[in-house]
Amino acid sequence: MGDDVPQTHPRAKSLEFRHRIIDGMHKKIVAEAGLIAHGRGEAFDYLIGEKTHEFSKKACEAAAASLYLADNPVLSVNGNVTVLCPEELVSFSNASGIPLEINLFYRKEGRLEAITSVLLEYGAKTILGIEEEYFEEINEISSQRRIVDRRGIGKADVVFVPLEDGDRTEGLVREGKTVITVDLNPLSRTSIKANITIVDNIIRALPLIHEFYEQMNEENARRILATYDNQEIIRLALSTISEFWQDMI
Ligand code: ATP
Ligand code: MG
Repeated sequence: MGDDVPQTHPRAKSLEFRHRIIDGMHKKIVAEAGLIAHGRGEAFDYLIGEKTHEFSKKACEAAAASLYLADNPVLSVNGNVTVLCPEELVSFSNASGIPLEINLFYRKEGRLEAITSVLLEYGAKTILGIEEEYFEEINEISSQRRIVDRRGIGKADVVFVPLEDGDRTEGLVREGKTVITVDLNPLSRTSIKANITIVDNIIRALPLIHEFYEQMNEENARRILATYDNQEIIRLALSTISEFWQDMI
């Protein structure tokens, strides 16, 4: 964190993560546009009181169930996620055996290498999306993000894509993949199009998914997914936003 922000500051945590994002941009890990995406996330986090609600827990549980039952699951990684929660990401990937795939919207020179070195520093075992010989293109996506690793997102049945852009989410869904997202904005195209939408901060959601995954078994996973209703989750997130502040003003 910047030296000028004391721990007693009421928004110390939020400021710490803001500084991490800025620092990540200077190190080429985060794209300039990543700062704007982070700001949008912060605004929505404010509106849910910067805490995990029941609708997020339910979606995290369904995410864990879906990843558990998948034949070829993959965890998509971008610059923001790498600076916000590298330890949690690597720990979940290594413990579950689900590969990480670096997938960037802005393929600026040096970014792939910068992200890779952070993940390696935290001990990542499997990182896809870095060797060109395995690259293929997903037709349904028009941006640079159509480049995927054929061992990862290319063949995946379940894709975890936190902080994702709407075009790509739509493309992945059209390709027939099950898409799980973490997105603080319940109204983003990603949130609406995904199969499982976790309206929460990635920092809080990832450890929760990991915990649910560790306790998962096949029977439970099937039961959870049989009754999961993503539209209901989004509706709950929206009604929480509209009601949350009413006692305070
Ligand atoms: P869409 O393309 O889906 O309509 P968008 O263009 O508004 O969304 P993008 O920049 O494409 O937004 O995607 C980033 C999304 O990630 C935003 O919806 C933002 O609210 C969300 N976000 C940013 N930071 C976090 C965070 N720490 N945790 C969870 N979500 C976040
Ligand atoms: Mg977008």
